[in-house]
Amino acid sequence: MLKKNMNMINVTKAFLPPLTEYTHYLEGIWERGWLTNNGPLVQQLEKELKEYLGVPHVQFLSNGTIALQIAIKALGLTGEIVTTPFSYVATTTAILWENCEPIFVDIENQTFCIDATKIEAAITPRTSAILATHVYGYPCDVLAIEEIAKRHNIKVIYDGAHAFGVNVHGRSLLSFGDLATCSFHATKLFHTIEGGAIVINDDELARKVWLYKSFGHVGDEYFSLGVNGKNSEFHAAMGLCNLPRVPDFIQRRQQIAATYKQELVGLAIRYPEPDESSLEYNYSYFPIVFGTEEEMLNVKARLADNDINTRRYFFPSLNKLPYHVGAECPVSEDVSLRILCLPFYQELEQHDVLRISHIIQEACR
Ligand SMILES: *Cc1c(COP(=O)(O)O)cnc(C)c1O
Repeated sequence: MLKKNMNMINVTKAFLPPLTEYTHYLEGIWERGWLTNNGPLVQQLEKELKEYLGVPHVQFLSNGTIALQIAIKALGLTGEIVTTPFSYVATTTAILWENCEPIFVDIENQTFCIDATKIEAAITPRTSAILATHVYGYPCDVLAIEEIAKRHNIKVIYDGAHAFGVNVHGRSLLSFGDLATCSFHATKLFHTIEGGAIVINDDELARKVWLYKSFGHVGDEYFSLGVNGKNSEFHAAMGLCNLPRVPDFIQRRQQIAATYKQELVGLAIRYPEPDESSLEYNYSYFPIVFGTEEEMLNVKARLADNDINTRRYFFPSLNKLPYHVGAECPVSEDVSLRILCLPFYQELEQHDVLRISHIIQEACR
């Protein structure tokens, strides 16, 4: 039997609700015998997500990657898509998978999101959209991007995999763009084990996405091409257990972030510097940027010696993928070599935060 080292600290730990809460939902599933295909728990979760996010349409999908693929398909994108090199690999592979070409635009040095001031120079007559990631939940310059997209008559998709629970300009960050996708994977702030969503403002587009995620038909009526992007009652049940706890998760993470920052003071490291003016942040990750890659790797190794896992996130810069090399992006390439995400989850205990910080302090001495 595989035995896990109980002292090991991972970079993240999925929250599990009290088992009785989950089994309560399972009993309902057993009674109804309705396991998937838009069941009552999926409908309830979508309704609660709409209320929580304050948006007209949320569709619960099987993961955040299929959400990106369906988003690209539903907007009918072709040709070139202007995108960020600093994201999880799924952002780029979704573009390639849908037979479009990713055109990388470098990132800002403060938020690590796409640099909106560099987008227009990358737009050509073949450009159909901008696909940008709200990195670590820090907002892209959504107002500038909206203006650029309008001027060039192109679409905007946000990969909001990290953006659940973030508000900016008085509304959910996921409400910006023609579409925003989200991931509810077990490693994310709010999770449904596996899962994802598309947030949509437009009714017509919402219907299109609905068909694309469910084989393109309703009963015996066939409307369009489709794929299977649905999620199940079991995953929705986990979401229903976890959703009411999101404000507590965020509050606890805020405390952990404050402790880390306090304990790491004096080191030659830096943090993302978002515009805080209208931002309600979700504390989804705790990244730090070291002075050099060597320093970062040294800290990573010292922590690993102590059974503490960190993650190079994001690395590599996506313009350097072996199967699709893009234009040079000096800021993204540089940051991706020096950034490290520390263990960060609501059940991380204070004494472990202090211990991790101490090891980093020692390693940097
Ligand atoms: C997690 C993640 C994804 C993929 O989501 P899955 O649910 O794992 O498919 C896409 N983009 C970003 C930025 C992510 O962090």
